[in-house]
Amino acid sequence: MGRVAIVTGGTRGIGEAISISLKNAGFKVAAVYAGREDRARAFSEKTGIPAYKSDVADFAQCATTVAKIHAEIGAIDVLVNNAGITRDATMRRMNRVQWDEVLDANLGGCFNMCKAVWDGMIERGFGRVVNIGSINGQAGQYGQVNYAAAKSGIHGFTKALAQEGATKGVTVNAIAPGYIDTDMVAAVPAPVLEKIVARIPVGRLGRADEIARGVLFLVADEAGFVTGSTLSINGGQHMY
Ligand code: NDP
Repeated sequence: MGRVAIVTGGTRGIGEAISISLKNAGFKVAAVYAGREDRARAFSEKTGIPAYKSDVADFAQCATTVAKIHAEIGAIDVLVNNAGITRDATMRRMNRVQWDEVLDANLGGCFNMCKAVWDGMIERGFGRVVNIGSINGQAGQYGQVNYAAAKSGIHGFTKALAQEGATKGVTVNAIAPGYIDTDMVAAVPAPVLEKIVARIPVGRLGRADEIARGVLFLVADEAGFVTGSTLSINGGQHMY
């Protein structure tokens, strides 16, 4: 019987690739999305993976959605916290709303979703949590104090929660992608993107399936000794 996996932001971009890879590997997958009905419908029709509309920034909605997925598909074994947004602006221009939205979705979403699955994973003695951070949470980025703070927070969150799950069969890891060819990166102005690509030693943007490959490694039953780690998948752009 396949393990049950939730992928937030699982209907497009990196999350879509993660959902599909997990399904192909035998997982029963539920994809969570925020509001792009057109993309969610197309994704479900193409993949056969059910999509659940739910805002990860909303604590109560996360609990309700996880309970629904549990009832319809089964107890949650794997959680991939991939949902994320950007609201870029320099410090001089950034307002409090832009700060709150990014922190609430990117970092608050990890807390809200983990809260909803954590007790069950601990009780059943098995769980795999993968949080999608970012190179910009490791290295910082101009115009992204909100996003860099949220993603950096994810890396600390991962290491702390990993310690709580370690003796219970629940691992918690992070992936820090570099620049991946998705809608999010398509929003970066072309001249800025050219300069970014010029700084990637591999010489190109990453592909969503290259992040999914890392997720598959971390969620395997055999990966029980890997916890509290951050896997950087960035074409060599940031090494440390
Ligand atoms: P996209 O913008 O392509 O897709 C984002 C996905 O997240 C969508 O499915 C969206 O749903 C969902 N989502 C956004 N906000 C919420 C929310 N509040 N509740 C539920 N779902 C939500 O993003 P990417 O695929 O590019 O990025 C995926 C993750 O990887 C993000 O966390 C991002 O920060 C991170 N990342 C991306 C990089 C890149 O280069 N692309 C680099 C480093 C990190 P809907 O379709 O309904 O809007």
